[in-house]
Amino acid sequence: MTESNLERRYSPLIILVLTAALVAVIGMWSVDRASTVTNVTEGADESRGDGDSYQWKIVTTWPKNLPGLGAGPENFARLVGELSGGRLTARVYGAGEIVPAFEVFDAVSQGVADAGHGAAYYWKGKIPSSVFFTAVPFGMTAQEMNGWMHYGGGLQVWQEAYAPSNIIPLAGGSTGVQMAGWFNREINSAEDLKGLKMRIPGMAGEVFAAAGGTAVRIPGGEIYTSLQTGVIDAVEWVGPYNDRALGLHEVAKYYYYPGWHEPGPLLEFIVNKQSMEALPQDLQAIVTAAARVVNQDMLDEFTARNNQALQQLVNEHGVQLRRLPDDVLKVLWQGTQDVMQQLIADDPMAAKVHASFKAYYDGVREYHHISEQAYINARDVVMDE
Ligand code: CA
Repeated sequence: MTESNLERRYSPLIILVLTAALVAVIGMWSVDRASTVTNVTEGADESRGDGDSYQWKIVTTWPKNLPGLGAGPENFARLVGELSGGRLTARVYGAGEIVPAFEVFDAVSQGVADAGHGAAYYWKGKIPSSVFFTAVPFGMTAQEMNGWMHYGGGLQVWQEAYAPSNIIPLAGGSTGVQMAGWFNREINSAEDLKGLKMRIPGMAGEVFAAAGGTAVRIPGGEIYTSLQTGVIDAVEWVGPYNDRALGLHEVAKYYYYPGWHEPGPLLEFIVNKQSMEALPQDLQAIVTAAARVVNQDMLDEFTARNNQALQQLVNEHGVQLRRLPDDVLKVLWQGTQDVMQQLIADDPMAAKVHASFKAYYDGVREYHHISEQAYINARDVVMDE
């Protein structure tokens, strides 16, 4: 996609116009829903251009009916159906229903499915730069990631990285700062990481391995059993709201923070290029707008629900909440430097993405010292007195 297309797609004015157009579509639909449904079925609705309707298959890396992460593609499917008056409908398939979790990218690339929902860093084996589009250790918060994506050049380099795979990426939701994870033993020093077998994907897995642990890649639907049976000693998944949904408190006792490895992980919608281009312009705009709505909505839900879930985990289930010691975080930070240097030395696209990421991150971090961070520190000073 060209830069001018990007600017056109994401300029505030156009979003405003697009929103007004969507509202108009909803209004038309709601006053005459019955006839619309009939006409779409018959393919003869003159008010909607050629009257074509489209049915998409969306495959996901999540277990079917998972709240939080799994609500992203479900909400997207509902939205595109409502906003298009039924001209574009989508059915969501959980991991294993059409393809296993880790085959979602290939399924969308090859057109087995029209779209997918998951996390870019699952594909780092084939696209090393993909880690930046989910999370890199000690990287950006959700707010910062969204700024990079939509106004800092992030989406542009992401599109470039996925173009050879016949895939168009869109931001697909965020969880906010995650938890460092569930451990079956206490972590009191960096020595305690050695020999630990942990489910931890992406670049963080390589950092964890550099610190002496063993990183394994397991899809969400298999985490509980892996921890229960002792295949792994520790797991990072998301945070209180989604971790409670998987029942991880039943199979590990210690719950560590902060999420050094995923401070603002971004999820992805991936769309098969031909599936997108087969849509008329207005439906393409609806796909893009619905993804943007879901991207923010997911963050809103996690923000609203995490604390209640954490209180329940601690107070009703006896979960032991722990902070990773500073010396452990420092070892992980050093490992991050080493792994990052290797990544950008080995892969030109990773180097290009890193350049965009770093230029933006350096600036936003500097500003957040005197804005987000300064405010959170200030409110604690006065409110916790
Ligand atoms: Ca995670």
